Amino acid sequence: MSRLFVSDVHLDASAPGAVEQFLEFLRTHAVNAEACYILGDLFEVWVGDDETDPDKKAVCKALRALTGQGVACFVIHGNRDFLLGREFCANTGCRLLADPVIAEFDGERVLLTHGDALCTDDHPYQELRSIVRTAPWQRRFLALPLADREMLANQVRAGSRQHTARTIPYIMDVNPEAVATAYRVAQVRRMIHGHTHRPGLHDTSVDGTPAQRIVLGAWYEQGSYLVYEDGQYALRELPR
Ligand code: MN
Repeated sequence: MSRLFVSDVHLDASAPGAVEQFLEFLRTHAVNAEACYILGDLFEVWVGDDETDPDKKAVCKALRALTGQGVACFVIHGNRDFLLGREFCANTGCRLLADPVIAEFDGERVLLTHGDALCTDDHPYQELRSIVRTAPWQRRFLALPLADREMLANQVRAGSRQHTARTIPYIMDVNPEAVATAYRVAQVRRMIHGHTHRPGLHDTSVDGTPAQRIVLGAWYEQGSYLVYEDGQYALRELPR
């Protein structure tokens, strides 16, 4: 049985092609897997578990069908959907994991993370992150009416687009020191993350032992997932 990993699907009503493809991915690929790990940014934005968007509801319903068929489904918060909460889990049967978390696959400890925390060169982003990921900020935000939260989220997204356009690409990639520290602190030699939209397998060595960082791809132009089966990891593309 295989384990599948996806991230950065960025689902919302403005990307019907991605929504359709992800629903198809759940029906055809994920249903035959033992477990499915969603490593952040499943949704382009998530302003609370009272979201009413029909496309998001369709995705939640499909996740419920998947977990109902016995496929274990795990979710890590991304920087877009870090407000996925208890109700989302109850509705879908997904289980929320901490970021980072250490999983064990066939006896190997593997670090799973969204990846934004590794992008330590992006100081303005890290500052924003340190505010919005606190419980008091989230309590205040979630107490606002849905329409206000949607409006604020749109403003943040516009700001984020400007920031991305103005920032040198390497600053938005992972910081090598942060990666090395993550390997050492977690005492792992493999990590899987998304966020940077730069899919690839990066072989390196940490304190003399081989290590591998696997980066998942985004779903903007095509589908992308990682499969782990029979001790092998492989990145796969799904043409759209
Ligand atoms: Mn992200």
